[in-house]
Amino acid sequence: MSKKFTGVGVSAGRVIGRVRRMPEPILAPADGAPLPAGVSAEEETARLTEASKAVATGLKERAALATGDAQAVLKATALMASDRSLLKSATKLVTGGTCAESAIWEAADAVATQLTALGGYMAERAGDVLDVRARIVAELRGVPAPGIPDSDEPFILAAVDLAPADTATLDPAKVLALVTSDGGPQSHTAIIARSLGLPAIVAAPETTELADGDLVFVDGIDGQVVTDPSEAEEHLATTYANREVLPDFSGTGELSDGYRVPLLSNVGSGEDAQAAAAAGAEGVGLLRTEFCFLGKDKEPTHEEQVAAYGAVFAAFAGKKVVVRTLDAGADKPLPFLTDSSEPNPALGVRGYRTDLTSPGVLERQLKAIAQATSEHEADVWVMAPMISTPAEAQDFAEMAKAAGLATAGTMIEVPSAAVLAGQILQRCDFVSIGTNDLTQYTMAADRQLGTLAELNDPWQPAVLHMVAATTAGAQSAGGKPVGVCGEAAADPALAVVLVGLGVNTLSMNKRALAPVSAVLRTVDLANAQRLAKLALDAPSAELARSVVRAELSELDRFGL
Ligand code: PEP
Ligand code: MG
Repeated sequence: MSKKFTGVGVSAGRVIGRVRRMPEPILAPADGAPLPAGVSAEEETARLTEASKAVATGLKERAALATGDAQAVLKATALMASDRSLLKSATKLVTGGTCAESAIWEAADAVATQLTALGGYMAERAGDVLDVRARIVAELRGVPAPGIPDSDEPFILAAVDLAPADTATLDPAKVLALVTSDGGPQSHTAIIARSLGLPAIVAAPETTELADGDLVFVDGIDGQVVTDPSEAEEHLATTYANREVLPDFSGTGELSDGYRVPLLSNVGSGEDAQAAAAAGAEGVGLLRTEFCFLGKDKEPTHEEQVAAYGAVFAAFAGKKVVVRTLDAGADKPLPFLTDSSEPNPALGVRGYRTDLTSPGVLERQLKAIAQATSEHEADVWVMAPMISTPAEAQDFAEMAKAAGLATAGTMIEVPSAAVLAGQILQRCDFVSIGTNDLTQYTMAADRQLGTLAELNDPWQPAVLHMVAATTAGAQSAGGKPVGVCGEAAADPALAVVLVGLGVNTLSMNKRALAPVSAVLRTVDLANAQRLAKLALDAPSAELARSVVRAELSELDRFGL
């Protein structure tokens, strides 16, 4: 009998395929467990050697078929699987009477600890050792290896949630769609799915029932997974597959009456920036600089920072690039900046607030941004995350100007900042609304929690009222610029509402540029304002979304 599971559609698309489940994580064996009864140390050593060889061969085969980053990750892991010193230490433990599983577990632990103590690049390799260990133990146990399953046929990946490391080896040609029981609209799974253009549903708890081989229909638009799809669902999938192909983004965002809405891109590196420029982005609306810091155990040097920012500026000569200063804390902890023991990290010392506990880091970052600016042609704007008061906005703007940066603004992510946007804008040059955090803080719903996904929806009318308060504040401060750089800007229907609410620029992942532009071009400003009013007056996120979507026929035409 067909079953229907409901979740949150976070990336559009309708597809039918067979499920492959993400394997269960490999649990640790008992500490120092002895050799199995009747098995000699020689036999156990042979088993261990065979298992590590099988893992190395499997990884090499996959590396040969992969490209780019995924290939590099797989090659490095394959090398680690046949690492002699790791196997030698494990064999020594087996000779001393420990079983193969416990021996490789303990030996890898020691190597990972040493690497972590060395710091820098070596510390970053500790994760590879632990990954190899889990693969060898899986081989010894005869259970599936951890990580994205391998398959000759494209499949629908069902998981609890995906970790950043899993996504490095996710091959978009093999995966038809993603379905997770946990994870919210802002989870890693959701962000990766959107950037790869894969249909995805998160926060669908009952999908834990799905098993390998189940045939399912995934509807990333309506947030539904249906087992044993009917003809009606086959029709929906076929119609989606045959949808009209979206025109490429022309490089000019505008409404049907010519009202300009520059469409910018969110990037985390020089490579991202080049790809965004190639997709026609009119500039960068959010450079997440913490991506240059993540995985580091100490502050990057001035030179490292200048090079990282410069690589982005080089891709956008003569265009606007909005650099956000470090946003560490909460879901993006950094060992040298954030306190991992805080009881409530989302409400703790994160973003701009780390200047309180680690003075100097922000000032040095601003100097590095200024240096990179002086070496390139980009029109660089700088902004701080997690600003809560006009005084903070003023302090930040003064710091930025003292570093030689001409245009300084703040993000609007906290309701207090939205309410006082007018006063904030009397003290700085622009604001950019981070709807991901603004939604989490307006609705008091952790953005990472799948169970609260319904609250954590930027279509919530309360969040739209926060956006309206921000644009009203900007008007009162003489019409200073307001952008949106949260994921809301990448939803074509919501983009229309944001423009109707008075937002001037939208910044999104590069894949969203074409769909957002196509839909914006079908409405004029008066119509966008009318739709914004309908959404503001709706009593729920669901009604706000449906009342607006019903008026935008292009969404169906392009399968959005
Ligand atoms: C946001 O909060 O909307 C935002 C753009 O910042 P981040 O997602 O990096 O927290
Ligand atoms: Mg944010």
